[in-house]
Amino acid sequence: MTFRRYATVLFLIPLLMTALTGCAPSSAETDDGRLRVVATTTIVGDVVRQVAGDLVDLTVLLPVGTDPHTFDPRPQDVAAVADAQVIFASGLGLEEFLEPLLDNAGSQALVVRVSDGVTARGLTGMAGGEGQAHETGADPHVWMDPNNVLVWTENVAQALSAADPAHAGQYAANAAAYESQLQELDSWIREQVAQIPAENRKLVTDHMVFGYFAERYGFEQVGAIIPGFSTGSTPSAQELAAIEDAIREYGVRAVLTGKTVNPALAERVAEDTGVKLVPIYTGSLSAADGPADTYLNFMDYNVSAIVEALK
Ligand SMILES: [Zn+2]
Repeated sequence: MTFRRYATVLFLIPLLMTALTGCAPSSAETDDGRLRVVATTTIVGDVVRQVAGDLVDLTVLLPVGTDPHTFDPRPQDVAAVADAQVIFASGLGLEEFLEPLLDNAGSQALVVRVSDGVTARGLTGMAGGEGQAHETGADPHVWMDPNNVLVWTENVAQALSAADPAHAGQYAANAAAYESQLQELDSWIREQVAQIPAENRKLVTDHMVFGYFAERYGFEQVGAIIPGFSTGSTPSAQELAAIEDAIREYGVRAVLTGKTVNPALAERVAEDTGVKLVPIYTGSLSAADGPADTYLNFMDYNVSAIVEALK
């Protein structure tokens, strides 16, 4: 049984809790009077949706498949931000577009960076050699560990309850139900990665997305093709040579490449080193009919792909 099927069963719990507490949204509330909420990425948007249900009018800025590091806001994004009462961003520098966008829109919204309170990590413990560490600052990819998404969920519930106290009880109940799903996801990941021999637990990706995952689940993030936390740079010839050397030296079995970046360099590195290229989701969910339409399914897809490639 995959986690995805298990999660479907758990999804009934919030509905049950809604029935028990007797505060299902009435149709009279759905058009007018709802809190106007913006989320930046599809992943943040999904967590907001899990906590808010239909109680808020939610706009997600980034289209599915968009790289959050290099997103360029459009006129409709300025309008959505200008109109919003609460804005949820991932934070830790992920959304380089956000501050200029807030200024352009003249936003008066409450801006919540959902990663506030997560213990941020830097570039410590990277094994990819001298040419592989030019980035400073915090790693924004906290969602690769569901324990950090527990923090997001609490931050979302607190902000929504403060902005819309009439529905605080329901936000809290939805958050509690979702948090138990995140805890189940964490347990499921531990079971899955146990199938991977210790010597194979080495990750190489297109950019440095797996720091939190590696730390939590006992992997080594050997390096990345773009050796930093953003996709907004091009690796030098020395950096490419360094990651190819590291793949050979550490016996890395696969290069994991996100669906939101151009795979050309990863394809070249995989070809040069003779390892598999494994597509994963990193900064965006899939479309609604795809395999990573929610955060829970995103992690299910990625962990299953990693286990298949490395076990
Ligand atoms: Zn990224």
